[in-house]
Amino acid sequence: ANANLFVALRAAFPADLTATAVEVADGPHAGAHYSWADLDRGTAMLANLLQSLGLPAGSRVAVQTEKSVEALMLYLAVLRAGHVFLPLNTAYQAAEIGYFIGNAEPAVVVCSPKNFAWVSRIAFSAGTGHVFTLGEARDGTLLERAAAQPDQHTPAVRTADDLAAILYTSGTTGRSKGAMLSHGNLAENALTLKAYWDWQPGDVLIHALPIFHVHGLFVASHGALLNGSKMVWFGKFDPKATIARMAGATVMMGVPTLYVRMLAEPTLTREAVQTMRLFISGSAPLLVETFDSWTERTGHVLLERYGMSETVMLTSNPCRAADGPRRRGTVGPALPGVQLRVIDDAGTPCPTGTIGHIQVQGPNVFAGYWRMPEKTAEEFTVDEQGQKWFKTGDVGKVEADRYVTIVGRSKDLIISGGYNIYPAEIEGFLNDMPGVAESAVIGVPHPDFGEGVVAVVVAHPGATLDPAAMIGQLKASIANFKVPKHLFVVADLPRNAMGKVQKNLLREQHRALFG
Ligand code: ATP
Ligand code: MG
Repeated sequence: ANANLFVALRAAFPADLTATAVEVADGPHAGAHYSWADLDRGTAMLANLLQSLGLPAGSRVAVQTEKSVEALMLYLAVLRAGHVFLPLNTAYQAAEIGYFIGNAEPAVVVCSPKNFAWVSRIAFSAGTGHVFTLGEARDGTLLERAAAQPDQHTPAVRTADDLAAILYTSGTTGRSKGAMLSHGNLAENALTLKAYWDWQPGDVLIHALPIFHVHGLFVASHGALLNGSKMVWFGKFDPKATIARMAGATVMMGVPTLYVRMLAEPTLTREAVQTMRLFISGSAPLLVETFDSWTERTGHVLLERYGMSETVMLTSNPCRAADGPRRRGTVGPALPGVQLRVIDDAGTPCPTGTIGHIQVQGPNVFAGYWRMPEKTAEEFTVDEQGQKWFKTGDVGKVEADRYVTIVGRSKDLIISGGYNIYPAEIEGFLNDMPGVAESAVIGVPHPDFGEGVVAVVVAHPGATLDPAAMIGQLKASIANFKVPKHLFVVADLPRNAMGKVQKNLLREQHRALFG
């Protein structure tokens, strides 16, 4: 059988191809409906265009465009034609695009019409043969060229191990790495999630995430496509508009910030979410406060899950009550088929409930980093039974009932006076204090302790924070070695293009604090 992921997605299209597959909720084509037949024919024309270029096997198609249904079709067409999809964050500028295009050497680059001048210059000097444009309003050369192509296309034959996409990581801990994901990695994970999240006939997904990242591109889109479910397509997230469009929808996925922003809207009520079945959060830690407020306001318990570019999804709180409760502060058990273990610094498995480094294996785990053989070798380890494990770089624990809690990243662990300090624990205490919106706890060089603990805190609008009093309060709650020696109140935490807090920048900023 053909293991091309497109074949599995296409097979899940409903029998009635005239039904709506995607309803556009905003932007220049708000109100437009794309049927399943439109998706089928559009991806065929784009796949035929790619095929007509006569690209060598394994060619990368790099895409940096605004979110549109055509951009989603381009992804599906790249799968269909058997090439390798390489999405790029729309926030990236010349220096970043230069790095990614230089590193990935794509045969085809698709960019926004407004960026054509500088992107094409970078691409052609990196040896790219074809640069197309695709705008938000169905404009650009890609669709012009595809319009002349036949609307039938037989999907290229691919094995489960063949490369489907290269996803560059978010660059939170350093330079982004290209995670090489196969058709099998993506298909296995999508099928697992379809069952575990209990996708239902008639489900309608609110799609308000970017499609250059694992969350919006794979988890959300594959979920709906594999279920033959309609997507309500938002090019940009707008909390008011999203809440207003929830009537009739059933599933939504978001990063924690989306939920925080919707909670700030008075229109978020039980009535507004009446038809909704499931709200899923991931990509960054969900604050306990957000989890609780969401339940209070909507009556829905947010489902938090955990994953990464290298592995797609790893763990998830249950969807069905029969599978267990959704426990706040945890990311749930490892998904069916995923093996997850926690090991100590010496490489020995930790006892239940003990914090250590999270390692995983499963059919969803990637093959390696694009053109980084040393980095790939470093991030995999082989146990005594000869089993290969991927080091996630995250630190956490597993309880006896298999629920996993993430406490931070290995690179953010603080070692002070010989003690391991987990930033998430201290951040939890800080976030619970009145007037605190969010916080980041870091370690910076300290002449006596190796590292000294420093807290950086953001106040709620209008709140005034007293650092000395907050430190005093922490001293009364946790061991002295964990208490920050300095606490800074700032307007914002530094975030990268994916909205993730960049602790490396904070460490850099406070590097000389202790001399
Ligand atoms: P880089 O690897 O380049 O430093 P990154 O790890 O942020 O960047 P992604 O692959 O986008 O790049 O993100 C995966 C990471 O996101 C995970 O390793 C984990 O640290 C974090 N993450 C994802 N979901 C959750 C969650 N529910 N709770 C806490 N952290 C999460
Ligand atoms: Mg990472």
